[in-house]
Amino acid sequence: MMRVMKAGLVYDPIYLEHDTGSHPENSHRLVAIMSHLEESGTKEKLTRLPPRPALVEELKMVHTAEYISQVKSKAEKGGGWLDPDTVICPKSYEVALYAAGGLLTATEAVMKREVSSAVALVRPPGHHATSNRAMGFCIFNNVAVAAKFALANFNLERLLIADFDVHHGNGTQDTFYADPKVLYFSTHQYPFYPGTGWIDETGTGEGEGFTVNFPMTAGWGDEEYLRAFNEVLVPVARRFQPDFILVSAGFDTHWTDSIAMMQVSITGFVQMVTILRDLAAELCQGRLVFTLEGGYDLQAVPHALKAILDVLLGNAEIDDPVGKSPSARKPGGFEEHIKKIMEIHHIE
Ligand SMILES: [Zn+2]
Repeated sequence: MMRVMKAGLVYDPIYLEHDTGSHPENSHRLVAIMSHLEESGTKEKLTRLPPRPALVEELKMVHTAEYISQVKSKAEKGGGWLDPDTVICPKSYEVALYAAGGLLTATEAVMKREVSSAVALVRPPGHHATSNRAMGFCIFNNVAVAAKFALANFNLERLLIADFDVHHGNGTQDTFYADPKVLYFSTHQYPFYPGTGWIDETGTGEGEGFTVNFPMTAGWGDEEYLRAFNEVLVPVARRFQPDFILVSAGFDTHWTDSIAMMQVSITGFVQMVTILRDLAAELCQGRLVFTLEGGYDLQAVPHALKAILDVLLGNAEIDDPVGKSPSARKPGGFEEHIKKIMEIHHIE
């Protein structure tokens, strides 16, 4: 028997107003995703969740007051570059408040059981932003703000953040590095931007052991990601027993993405998302929220979003029209690598 699952979608046209010009992180990404969800009939099956802006007080759970006002005043003065990769326009501060707020809307809807799970299609993305610095197309750390908000407002004890963007979420890791209440698990191409995320970064002080990095050699794909999820994420999550799961969903891990070199297919994303959905069902009453991070191939990303929404809706048939990577050469070393990570994290 199929269980009917209600999945929420956070989206608002305000997300198109963060104007980055010809930068790869631009509004065409969301336009392409939304039109595919519309044409494929997926949108009408989703519960629409109109986002609210995050309050400055909520951002301050992650970011310094100085940094927040610096972004605001830079936008007011016409915008410009916050870091060598991150450009803003006059509207970007407001849009960034809605991006962080979109995750808060999704979190509230899941915690109040209005929906079983939700996907927040927001931009700018967030996982590189640190307490006092914009980095890598990110202004405020949307997922970190949502995690702090969930812990503060819904009486949760433990929260898991899983991050399958092709880049390491250095800002998210930093935010919770000493915090035993938030377990951060990341798979990412390594060595690669932003340079962090090696296996020996495992947390500090009371947070020791609650950061789990699974760096990936360029060229690995579905098989390696699936094993990282099944053999590392699953046992670590079962041991940790989260009350809520947040996911930094980046689709720049797809084999067609031009800015990175991993070989994951849409089928691979579907398998990872199925594992996350099943973990949430087993451990935390299904509470699961995804936020869009990277992903720049305007062909693959809309299909990937539709596919993962099909997983959340409980649909049995899921398409991968883009198919598997044709790349035949795969670098070795995976067995030793996963063994080392399992040792570091005391996984039997
Ligand atoms: Zn990325």
